[in-house]
Amino acid sequence: MKTSSVAAKNQLSHGPEKIVTLSYVAAEAEEPPSKSVILTGLEDEPPGRPATGKDRLFRNVPESSWKDWKWQFRNRIVSVDQLKQLLPLSSEEEAQIRTVTRRYPLSITPYYLSLIDPANPRDPVRMQSVPCIEEITQSAMGMEDPLSEKEDSVVPGMVHRYPDRALMVLTDICPMLCRHCTRKREWRHGGWVRPDSEIEAMLDYLRRHTEVRDVILSGGDPLTLSTSHLESIISRIRAIEHIDIIRIGSRFPVVLPQRIDAELCDMLSRQGPIWFNSHFNHPNEVTPEAAAACDRLLRAGVPVNNQTVLLRGINDSVEIQTRLCHKLLKAKVRPYYLFQCDEVQGTEHLRTSVDVGIKIIEGMRGHTSGLAIPNFVVDLVQGGGKVPLQPNYVLAMNEDELLLKNYEGKVFRYRNPNSQKSRSETDAPPPVSGVVESLLAAADLPAKAKGEANADRVIIRS
Ligand code: SF4
Repeated sequence: MKTSSVAAKNQLSHGPEKIVTLSYVAAEAEEPPSKSVILTGLEDEPPGRPATGKDRLFRNVPESSWKDWKWQFRNRIVSVDQLKQLLPLSSEEEAQIRTVTRRYPLSITPYYLSLIDPANPRDPVRMQSVPCIEEITQSAMGMEDPLSEKEDSVVPGMVHRYPDRALMVLTDICPMLCRHCTRKREWRHGGWVRPDSEIEAMLDYLRRHTEVRDVILSGGDPLTLSTSHLESIISRIRAIEHIDIIRIGSRFPVVLPQRIDAELCDMLSRQGPIWFNSHFNHPNEVTPEAAAACDRLLRAGVPVNNQTVLLRGINDSVEIQTRLCHKLLKAKVRPYYLFQCDEVQGTEHLRTSVDVGIKIIEGMRGHTSGLAIPNFVVDLVQGGGKVPLQPNYVLAMNEDELLLKNYEGKVFRYRNPNSQKSRSETDAPPPVSGVVESLLAAADLPAKAKGEANADRVIIRS
């Protein structure tokens, strides 16, 4: 595959008010040289006209190229020299990014880069895609492979941890390298796609293990494979009688939604039932293009569930998570998981403490529909699997009744239907707020619940 060919020729001044237009070396047959866009230089943005990132940075790129996922993929920004033409970087930042990329490379699609507000150094899209020095300075924290995926590999590329599910890692290539990636350890090996001999070994394993009914295709990003290559793998999985469901985990709808084209959707529709796990982390990522990509999947009969990673300074607040989940629901995407960021080397600066995630869920519960609330989970080290974490709504419990806190912090008694006592013996007083102790005394429930009713529900940034 031909790689990025951004050919920047101008130095960009450090300010959002400048526009740089770049030339792109077109790719072989699909984009003959006559279609190359010629650099025209640095221009002042017309006053009063807010430019989109596409208009501001890639205005010379024809719409047909912009909408072509292969063009986007070929023209990924993969070097600091390319990046500094498109984003304001101080000389210190530039030097730091050069240092980081010696260990952890960078790759950003033009589309995803166009979502960055260049005036905001803490822009959530920027923080997910542009390397920062903490990846190196805090790299002593964490592990290379916290989920012990290597140890759970039954054949190369296949992880079989849960009884009825298996994971197939088809490639380590991704269009955008997320700075919080759990498989960051793979980046240094260069891009690879698993050869067919290894795919066949994985399929053999699946054929022999009739307990597996759900196969997850992952990476890297499996959609970096061509549609025909992907279909050749999916159709062989589909031919295994005991496999009910195939799931695809991909960030393409977020970082390169153009990939979700008619050819791909037709193939997924043919090979269904297929479920899709997307990876939106911030409401700014749910653009009209991304929503349209999800809509194409849904119209092809592919349900889309979203898995968000909780990231410090990016989405660690009730307000941002609620906006994200509402935008996802509008796009008919179900918020499925909110993951605690794994203990991966080079990601410590993006990790929050676990209680932030719990308090975010607590801040959402009751204030929006349950459909908008994901399951907050921690993926345990050493392959221990996912553990869901919830705010504590059960203040006390015995075999007769429970003392429950609702979303407003009000405390209620609830008769346990298994109780041998009659209802009259356990009749509760009307709901009251902030008087847990008196209820505890009246109900003779365990005193361990004292003080929990007024737990801080406000947080919100780590
Ligand atoms: S898309 Fe997934 S596998 Fe690829 S870099 Fe991002 S987090 Fe890692």
